[in-house]
Order: sequence, then C-alpha cells, then structure tokens
Amino acid sequence: MRQETKCIQAGYEPKNGESRMIPIIQSTTFKYDSSEDMGKLFDLEESGYFYTRLANPTNDYVAAKIAALEGGTAALLTSSGQAATFYSVFNIAGAGDHVIASSTIYGGSFNLFNVTMRRMGIDFTFVDPDCSDEELEAAFKPNTKAVFGETIANPALIVFDIERFAKAAHAHGVPLIIDNTFATPINCRPFEWGADIVTHSTTKYMDGHDATVGGCIVDSGKFDWMAHADKFPGLTTPDESYHGITYAEKFGQGGAYITKATAQLMRDLGSIPSPMNCYILNLGLESLALRVERHCANAQAVAEFLEAHPNIAWVNYPGLKGNKYYDRAKKYMPDGTCGVISFGVKGGRKAAEEFMGKLRVAMIATHVADAHTCILHPASSTHRQMTDEELTAAGVAPDLVRLSVGIENVDDIIEDIRQALE
Ligand SMILES: *Cc1c(COP(=O)(O)O)cnc(C)c1O
Repeated sequence: MRQETKCIQAGYEPKNGESRMIPIIQSTTFKYDSSEDMGKLFDLEESGYFYTRLANPTNDYVAAKIAALEGGTAALLTSSGQAATFYSVFNIAGAGDHVIASSTIYGGSFNLFNVTMRRMGIDFTFVDPDCSDEELEAAFKPNTKAVFGETIANPALIVFDIERFAKAAHAHGVPLIIDNTFATPINCRPFEWGADIVTHSTTKYMDGHDATVGGCIVDSGKFDWMAHADKFPGLTTPDESYHGITYAEKFGQGGAYITKATAQLMRDLGSIPSPMNCYILNLGLESLALRVERHCANAQAVAEFLEAHPNIAWVNYPGLKGNKYYDRAKKYMPDGTCGVISFGVKGGRKAAEEFMGKLRVAMIATHVADAHTCILHPASSTHRQMTDEELTAAGVAPDLVRLSVGIENVDDIIEDIRQALE
C-alpha cells in the first residue's frame, strides 16, 4: 500500500461482519476464563490485553497504522507528545548516561531534557544541527546512549540532516531518534535515511483538528541492541521487574524497544491515551495525506506572498528558493515540508503585535499544525522561559512570528494577512 492508502486502511482489518471503523474498546479491564490464561499475558508469554494502563486494542490499531506509515516494526501511543519524547529517551538512558540533542528542538523537548531529565541524572549536550563534523564528534562520550533531532524544527524550521547524524550515531553504537511531528510520514520517512526511532506529537497534523493531545513512538527495528549489549543493559539483560525477561532476546530487534516501553514505562508511568482519543486520532489520520498536501500548497503560496510584501522584514520557509534549507528540504521532503512559516514584520516587536491584533481569519493560539490557520509570537508566549541566548541558540528571533497555515481557502488567508499588514 502507498501512504494515502495506509492512512485509510492500515492497522485494522475487519473480519467478516465486523465493524468497518475501528471499535472503541472503552474498557479498563479484560476478562479471562482462568487465572492461568491471564498469567500467560502477565508473563508476556502470550499477547493480549488485561489492563488499559498497559495496552488497549483501539490504541493498538491506531499505533499499527502509524507504524505502517513510518515503515516501522512496532509503535506505542502515548497521552501526549511530551510523554513520547520522554519515553523514547528514558527507555534506553538512565542516571549516569548522556544524550546528544539538537539545540533547535521544540521548546517543550528542550525543557524536558535540560531541566527535568537532568534532575533524573541524565546528562545532555546540545549541538547546533549545522555544526562541523569535529564539533559533532566531540559531543560523544563513552556514556552517550542516543542522539535526538527534529526533522523540521518547531518553530525555527531548520531542516535536520538526518543521514549525517544517523551515520555519526551509528559510528558510536547508538540510535538516532527523530521527532517527525512537522514533516509527518507523508512528507518524510526518517527510517529511510537511517533514523532508528521516530516520535510524534500526534496533537499536530496527525489529529489535525485541535481535538486530541497525543503522542507516538515508532521503532524501525533496525537497531541491533545485542551488538551494543554493554550500552543498553535495559534491553539486553534480564528485567527483574518482569520475571527476568531479556527484551532483545525474547522479542528480537523489531519488538524489544516498544515491548520494553510498554511493559516497563507504561506500567510504571501510565501515560496511556484513552481509547476514545485514539479513535479521534484515527479519524485525523484517515485524511492526513490530503490535508498535508493542502497545508503545504497553501503555505507555499502564503510564503511567496509574504516574501514579496514591502511590510515584511524577512520570511523563513524551507519551500522558498532562497531559503538556507531549500536543498536539504528537497532531498528529505521532495513533496513539501509543512504548513508552518515564520517571518518578521517591519517595525519589530511592536509592529508584529499590532499586526496580529488585526487578523480575522488567522487566530492567535498556542498551537500549530492543524486545520485552522493560527499565529503566535513565541518570545512572549511558548518560549518565554528561555533566555535571549537560549532563544538565539534555538533559532527563535525575538521578533519572530510563527504562522501555521491551515486548509482554508488560501485566498482568504492571504487577504486577511494583506489587510492586517496594510
Ligand atoms: C507540540 C510538539 C511536541 C509536544 O507534543 P504535545 O502533544 O504538545 O505534548 C513535541 N515535538 C514537537 C515538534 C511539537 O510540535
């Protein structure tokens, strides 16, 4: 199946007489005929469901669809993108370990790593995604366990050189984790470029309708944990909290990572989305390919309009020919990048605020990447905890306005921006 077909059909195949749409199994528990039957599930001897904090069939249908879209072997849905980011790293790194991350990742991921996970004893080095090979090499330590980047950074719109970072990570025997939220698997499939794990905030384009917060982790099944057994004891030695199971042995390269995240992290931390939310997410996924295509076409037209307007100081959109990341975007995302554009209004901070107050179609919202066109000034909202130095390192200029172009008629979006600018 191609991507458009997977959006509709992957993950759930109804049998004779079963519901055409995925069923919503809104139940916390599952009944068994004997204790022995249930015991086999607890021992991970058989797959099945016993308690929704660990797994639920509705969730699994949707996870399987996203795994198919990314070309992975297994996936786990989480209750938010933040939970997905946390699990993706914490599943393979603990106190005393070190992780390399791009300095331009989403502000929420940056705080999670730089503040909360540091408190857990995990050390992070943030590298400029365009750093030299020497700088990247120097960031690795003997206790490095992963490298983390974002396909298209939110909101800096820096396109990450996945292939280059994958090579560096693999040379040091660690996986590359990619947050693929903005590109979606419609525009970019990081596994094809060497990434090992993909995360998503499904809250954005995947849900696409401002309806449900959620996240997802997908495993490519390509990283050989056993070949680097000393680095990943959590996967390659017995888990005493789970009857001495060794995940990499029992579930193989394609299943170990997600099984551990489910059996251990989901069991202990419980960031599971509700089956109802997964059902809503699935509705979004069915139209993902169509919507992403429209988001990109609209954003391209808006970016070109902005670039030509005399009241605009600068425009950043990887789909514009003069953009620093145009060629890299064409390599990784030949069909389009995303619907998010950033720009500066002439006159700086104050002019930008006045401009935003005059918009009618574009709504001021701390959200991006959904059907509605919305707009935000990060320095005074989402990124206000960050110092000027951190903002600059993250590629967010103090006068940056972030516009998330929706799927309305593009002429209405452009006319709205034109009247506000004028
Ligand atoms: C929004 C976002 C997140 C966090 O996801 P939530 O669903 O809000 O928890 C992570 N990464 C990126 C790129 C995002 O845009």
